Amino acid sequence: MTKSHSSHELQTRIVHPEDDLPPGYASFSVPVTRASTVVFPDLATMRALDWRNDAAWRYGLHATPTSMTLAQRLAALEGGKHALLQPSGLSSISNVYFGLVKAGDDVLIPDNVYSPNRDHGDWLAKDFGITARYYDPMIGAGIADLILPNTRLIWIEAPGSVTMEVPDVPAITAAARARGVVTAIDNTWSAGLAFRPFDHGVDISVQALTKYQSGGADLLMGATITVDRELHLKLKLARMRMGIGVSSDDCSLVLRSLPSMKVRFEQHDRTALALAHWLKTRPEIAAVLHPALPDCPGHEFFKRDFSGAGGLFSVVFDERYSAAQIDTFCESLELFAIGWSWGAAQSLAMPYDIASMRTEAQWPHRGTLVRFFIGLEEEADLRADIEARLAALK
Ligand SMILES: *Cc1c(COP(=O)(O)O)cnc(C)c1O
Repeated sequence: MTKSHSSHELQTRIVHPEDDLPPGYASFSVPVTRASTVVFPDLATMRALDWRNDAAWRYGLHATPTSMTLAQRLAALEGGKHALLQPSGLSSISNVYFGLVKAGDDVLIPDNVYSPNRDHGDWLAKDFGITARYYDPMIGAGIADLILPNTRLIWIEAPGSVTMEVPDVPAITAAARARGVVTAIDNTWSAGLAFRPFDHGVDISVQALTKYQSGGADLLMGATITVDRELHLKLKLARMRMGIGVSSDDCSLVLRSLPSMKVRFEQHDRTALALAHWLKTRPEIAAVLHPALPDCPGHEFFKRDFSGAGGLFSVVFDERYSAAQIDTFCESLELFAIGWSWGAAQSLAMPYDIASMRTEAQWPHRGTLVRFFIGLEEEADLRADIEARLAALK
């Protein structure tokens, strides 16, 4: 593409500049390459393009050097081979549905799944002629009994959003594989660091990069990661048809945060675990739902399959406190903000009414659940904050 424009008028030369930068530049940061149009050297190259070829530049929506670098690093981090980036974690979930499921198909979804995923299943069932069925997340190998001839996809979340049950992932994926059913895990909680989905028979891993990978609560992005190329291509085709992509500026923010993710995750983990153990001793708390603690259903699978926990866990308050009292507890915390999207430096607290959120699995607790995200503040300050609000509950 080196056509000379030196003989043209100034305006034309500004539109077609000939830059003359000194060679040899190198830095640690990945250049931000923004593009809608990708320029081809000639028509033969353009006509020979095959969308299946991940190494061919086609269009800014599909990939730029910045987004491809991020995709490759995420695939490597998770132990996968291919990664696709979507503009939010939820759109990654959506990409899995649209890549794999068509009218007449059946999908199995855990009862404790991230609730917009549940809503997605209900929507496809209502308007697009699939069936979405919910299963008890602790079902394990018993999932085999639920698989129908038209079951195409089984969702897994480990642990479940908000209620933190840890499923027996290898038992579910073994049953799925025996029947040729694809499994997709929402692996956001572990950031791909503490749980290695492809070592446990999972086919697709979904990450909400909005959380730990961003680390700054300042962008939205998601990824689907696969080992199998045919599966990758199904997702890639659906992504292309949906017309979704990501901005290279956002990718560069994630690329900047990614090297510090493991140390951040481990720090979140240490503080959260210490607070979880302390909360367990408090008379106001009926149960601590942290996968590393024995109260949490599936604790044995956590010990077997996971290498860490990060900053997200829940507690159930004693039933003597009303939901309104727990609302006041959450609102009066000084260091915990009220907000959905976790994974940044700041702690969060959010109350949930679990009984209203599920249809299959029994919810054994009667008190109000509060989900904590433990940020990067000092443990002593967070503990003092919670302790003061617990004392005010009396
Ligand atoms: C936040 C989250 C998502 C969705 O991510 P967005 O980028 O906010 O759409 C999906 N799954 C889990 C478990 C999440 O926590």
